[in-house]
Amino acid sequence: GAEDGFLPLSERRLTVLSGPSGVGKSTVVAELRRAHPEVWLSVSVTTRRPRPGEVHGVHYYFVDGDEFDRLVAAGELLEWAEFAGNRYGTPREPMLKKLAEGVPTLLEIDLEGARQVRRSMPEALLVFLAPPSWEELEKRLRGRGTEPEDVIARRLAAGRIEMAAESEFDLTLVNTSVQDVCRRLIALMTDPQGVTTTT
Ligand code: 5GP
Repeated sequence: GAEDGFLPLSERRLTVLSGPSGVGKSTVVAELRRAHPEVWLSVSVTTRRPRPGEVHGVHYYFVDGDEFDRLVAAGELLEWAEFAGNRYGTPREPMLKKLAEGVPTLLEIDLEGARQVRRSMPEALLVFLAPPSWEELEKRLRGRGTEPEDVIARRLAAGRIEMAAESEFDLTLVNTSVQDVCRRLIALMTDPQGVTTTT
């Protein structure tokens, strides 16, 4: 909302990027990592196994279930959620340290995580990444077409529910191109007027 423009910069600098699965969040983050080192990307903890090319401490901290339990119990995660059978969470301290230093900070998390951040840090700017059209998202959710029809139907139903979350966010960026989304995100995160002038 427009009120956000009056918050102190230090508090406004936490930006959360979320959106339906398949919309391209991780592609945006990969481009930010490459082209915008001035933005600090939070490194999440996950119980998922690393994919080829993923580096511990860069893309994720890969931990087992016991370690994840310990982090939750110790209150070390700002938020956490389960996604496709694995758990993901945002370490609190490193993020607060970057915010205190005034570094523009971005979390790329799922919709449930974004809701939790909304509650615990209401001053955070919540950005919804939307597909150019429902047809485009449907195409991505259908994937290579090798999945059985009931699996696809479940994905599409989940996608429709996820799209409805848009109204809970401060603003929407349409993922027309990864460069365009990055440019807009950087403007939002570094320009104090960005929140009020970009929708
Ligand atoms: P992937 O396994 O493909 O890397 O990520 C799966 C989903 O988990 C994505 O939607 C991603 O945004 C989400 N995710 C990654 N890190 C976190 C986190 O720390 N917290 C939450 N709530 N979701 C996360």
